[in-house]
Amino acid sequence: MTQELADKIEVISINDSKSETEEIGPIVPHERQIVDSIISIWKEDPSTENLGISKLHSIVKSKHSNWSISEKRIRQLLKKFGLSTNQEQFTYSKYITSELTFDIELPSKIQVVMTNKRGKCLYAKKSIKKGELIWNEIPLFFIPPLVNVKLIKNGSACSYCGKLLKQIETKSILKGLDCNICSEIWCSKECKLQNIELHNLLKHNLYNPNNKKSKLMDSNSFLELQDYCLEESWNALYAITLIYAQIILDKSGILKKQFNSMAKVSQDIRYKALNSSGGTFDNMNGGTLFIQEQQEILWNQGFEKFLKIFPKNPIDFKEFLFMMGTYNINNLDSNIYLIQSHLNHNCEPNLNVETDINRIKGIKVYASRDIKEGEELTTTYVNPIHTVNQRQRELRVNWGFICNCSKCINDLELNKRRKSSNGSNNQQNAKNIRNMLKETSKTIGENGIELNIPQDGNNGERRKSVRFDEKVVAVSN
Ligand SMILES: [Zn+2]
Ligand SMILES: [Zn+2]
Ligand SMILES: [Zn+2]
Repeated sequence: MTQELADKIEVISINDSKSETEEIGPIVPHERQIVDSIISIWKEDPSTENLGISKLHSIVKSKHSNWSISEKRIRQLLKKFGLSTNQEQFTYSKYITSELTFDIELPSKIQVVMTNKRGKCLYAKKSIKKGELIWNEIPLFFIPPLVNVKLIKNGSACSYCGKLLKQIETKSILKGLDCNICSEIWCSKECKLQNIELHNLLKHNLYNPNNKKSKLMDSNSFLELQDYCLEESWNALYAITLIYAQIILDKSGILKKQFNSMAKVSQDIRYKALNSSGGTFDNMNGGTLFIQEQQEILWNQGFEKFLKIFPKNPIDFKEFLFMMGTYNINNLDSNIYLIQSHLNHNCEPNLNVETDINRIKGIKVYASRDIKEGEELTTTYVNPIHTVNQRQRELRVNWGFICNCSKCINDLELNKRRKSSNGSNNQQNAKNIRNMLKETSKTIGENGIELNIPQDGNNGERRKSVRFDEKVVAVSN
């Protein structure tokens, strides 16, 4: 039976980058290799998440025929890494705190409500019709795409919004949209105006011999950090550096108060949830093999580089981790929005949040169905077409809670029923797996498969979240 199954499975190779046949066996795999393998099986076909241990074992064996591994070991590892269903899993929503938002102007039909369990929420004060535009807002903190930094440096993308500039547009130099000192260019007057002060502080180390005062920000250190973030693909560090610089520049102190009143959590707490998922869902830092000690070394490195930029405004390591955690749970598409960041999650949300192609223009928030007076407004933090197991894991790791929405409850119930109706008959099981694999190959054939939690793409998913202010301007790609 197992052999028969293995034969069927081998026929369809899914996404295999490396051939396993070169390995000499049998070998006893490291626990991280096993967990990696299981998670990649689940990612390739989410329906395999509902398979029992023995079926999962067969698939692992079929992929790594030289591995010496028992069902028992698989069971133990799933438990150890918090991956088995029906298991108490690490959540951190209880560690997230928030305060009433400072100086916020709300659209007329909505209000903020503070709750014990779910922090700040938005509610409808009046009924809202399906399709109605409820509000639009520009980012409180605008963060240009880190991937565009190289283009920004050589003047092929706007220094503020990151928008790519065509050859003709670089003639904008004639229109005074270039920098006098470095080779960077802005796409518009608005971008230049919005950004020039910060640009000068962060990117030019001009020494004025008549000025005895030490500099507010050290630009060499900033440029070094920028390269470091690129190297490590570390968006959050880049983002909190830009946020902190804007907070320091804001003499009114409002930005600081607004950022501090957002839903707040330390990054090391979030990391515990990540770790209990085998780490593979951390697409920022290279996956499963990225273990705790390495993570701490990286945080410390990042912190050191961060501090050097702000000699007059040091923060401590704890606050640094809070900034990062807070940014991660509040940002939408890497920007922070003041109102939108109040929204709680539902897998069937009653709002539809649209991001402008020009990222600097921010978001428009529509009612996706009729909303009654007194109803909570919700958005989705994850892709609603993901399976319930995927959604729940993404939500747990990235936002620290187990989703109890009615869609999740229904989906879980369906899974349970499917499982119990499959349970007994081996032939039936083999057939199910064959069908499942057929389905999988179809999916792969057409669209490829989404293997990762999306990064800060424009797909409307919200991987991390943050908050914002009216001053900040957005960028486009
Ligand atoms: Zn621009
Ligand atoms: Zn410049
Ligand atoms: Zn849900």
